Order: sequence, then C-alpha cells, then structure tokens
Amino acid sequence: MDHLKLLLDLHGRADRQGPGSDEDTKLALRLSGLKAHKNLTIADIGCGTGASTLVLAEELDASIKAVDLFPEFLERLTVRAETKGVRSRIQTIATSMEDLPFEPESLDAVWSEGAIYNIGFETGVKAWRSFLKPGGVLAVSELTWLTATRPQELNDHWASEYPHVATASEKIAQIEGVGYTLLGYFPLAPSSWLDTYYRPLQARFDVFLTKHKNARDAQSIVAGERREIGLYERFSSYVSYGFYIAQKLPDRA
Ligand code: SAH
Repeated sequence: MDHLKLLLDLHGRADRQGPGSDEDTKLALRLSGLKAHKNLTIADIGCGTGASTLVLAEELDASIKAVDLFPEFLERLTVRAETKGVRSRIQTIATSMEDLPFEPESLDAVWSEGAIYNIGFETGVKAWRSFLKPGGVLAVSELTWLTATRPQELNDHWASEYPHVATASEKIAQIEGVGYTLLGYFPLAPSSWLDTYYRPLQARFDVFLTKHKNARDAQSIVAGERREIGLYERFSSYVSYGFYIAQKLPDRA
C-alpha cells in the first residue's frame, strides 16, 4: 500500500484529523454572530471526516459545502451526517482548496479548522475573501506560537515543518492586512489536542500496525506521529492552534 493510502487508513477512521473540539467550534460560532441569521451558505474547507461540519449543520440554519481533497474522508462524513440527521444540509465536494468552485461573493462564511496550512495562512485568507459576501465571516484555526520566545528545539521543528507558524498578533495583522476586521481570537486548550485528537490517534496505532503487518512504511508513519505527540506534550505551553474569527470589510476605494 502506498504512503498516502496508509495515511488515509490511519486518519480516515477518526472523527477528526487535527486538533479541535466541538466546544471550540461552538465558541467560534458564538464569536462569529452567525447564529442570528437564517438560510446561510457556508463552506467548510479541508473538512476531513466532518468534525466541524457536523457542528455547523446542527447549530445553524445553513446549507454547508464540505470540501476536502480526499473522497475517502467525505464518504465517512456523509455516513456520520446521515446518522445525525443533517445529511440534507451538507453537500460534499472533493477538490483542492486551491481550486474552489465558488462564485465571487456567494458565501456567508468560510470555515476551516486545522487545514489552511495546506495553502499557507496568508494566501488562504486572501484568496478565500473573494468568495465572501460583504460582511461575510472567516473562521480559521492555524498553528500559532503562544509566546514571544520559545525553546530552540521546538522552534527548529516547526520552522522546518511549517515556516508560516507565527504569534497571534502576527496572524491577526495578516488578516487585517487583506481586508478583514477581527471579531475574536482564542487559543485551543491542551485538551483539544490530547483528548480529542492525539489520544484517539494513539489508540489506533496497534491495530493499524497489525493490519499492515508492521510494514516499514506503516512503522515510519507511526514513529512520525509519536514524535509529534511527544513534542507537543513537552511544549504545550508554547504552541497551539489559534482560532481566528473575522469579518470581511468592503473593498478599499
Ligand atoms: N477540518 C478537519 C480536518 C483537518 S486535517 C478537522 O478539524 O478534523 C486537514 C484536512 O485538509 C485533511 O482532511 C486533508 O485531507 C485536507 N487537505 C489537505 N490538502 C488539501 C487541499 N489541497 N485541498 C483540500 N483539502 C486538503
């Protein structure tokens, strides 16, 4: 089995593919003001198996376009949506976030949890702004430094894995710089990494390795995940995901 298929097998069985929690999605929703409105059209970009999509569908009067590169994740999302009785509010779209099929100014909100890094934060918030109606909402979570300085080992790891990692004030300046005003920001708590993401992931390692007969590639995937988890456990006071909620300002004259 190739590397990508193995990754999809390990992560596709999960309820989420990155840090976050239903409570985080609900807090971001409260900050967004979206619940006061009806008949919304929302895109959830890089939705995975639908952790945030399902909360949005349950909490809002909205039609949701759930976008992910991998149909395998979207199939699981569809099954989960059926179970929760919200299938009719969700349309799945298997495509890249770099090639979104939306009309300009057609969306009330662009939601994206733990996925905008695939295109790069500043590129994403700038490109996706064009799909928002005037006054539309952007809600994105993104790897964020919690402090002005940090241990060298942690800094070096993320500087090489994701060079766009920055403090919240730098991320907020990027959001403001491309035509939004900030509605809210909060950092995800350690429980949103450990309880909802890393612990369930760790619990799948043994079954995954057995299923793939301890193939070298499967072992190296698990070793990589274990390294990342170990790093997070040691340095959780310095790094998290930040949740950024912002509103589109009119184009500058
Ligand atoms: N929002 C989900 C998944 C986060 S993981 C959650 O919080 O659980 C990042 C997601 O981005 C994965 O589902 C991955 O398949 C998707 N992804 C990666 N590259 C992508 C791309 N170019 N276009 C769309 N989705 C992409």
